[in-house]
Amino acid sequence: MKTKAKAYDYGECEICDTPMQEKHIKQDFWIREELIVVESVPAGVCPRCGEKVVKADVGQWLTKLIENSERIAKAPRISVPSVKFDAEESGV
Ligand SMILES: [Zn+2]
Repeated sequence: MKTKAKAYDYGECEICDTPMQEKHIKQDFWIREELIVVESVPAGVCPRCGEKVVKADVGQWLTKLIENSERIAKAPRISVPSVKFDAEESGV
C-alpha cells in the first residue's frame, strides 16, 4: 500500500494573505527557445489570486529535470497554439 505523502504547509500567499492550497500543476519553462512542460508538479496555489509557490526541494528537482537534455529529447511532444502578432491586423 502506498503511503500518502504528508501535506506540506505552504503558509499564506505573499500577495493577498490567503492560505495556499496544495495542487498538482503544470509548470512551463522556456529553455533555449523551447517550451518544456512539467506535469503534476506539487505546488501551493493561492485560490484567490493564483500565485504559485514550490518547495525548495521541488524547485531543485525541476531544475534537474529540465537540464536533463537526454530525457527531454525522449519526452513526448505536445502541440501548442501559435498565433502570429500581425501589426497590420492589429492596427498598432
Ligand atoms: Zn494570493
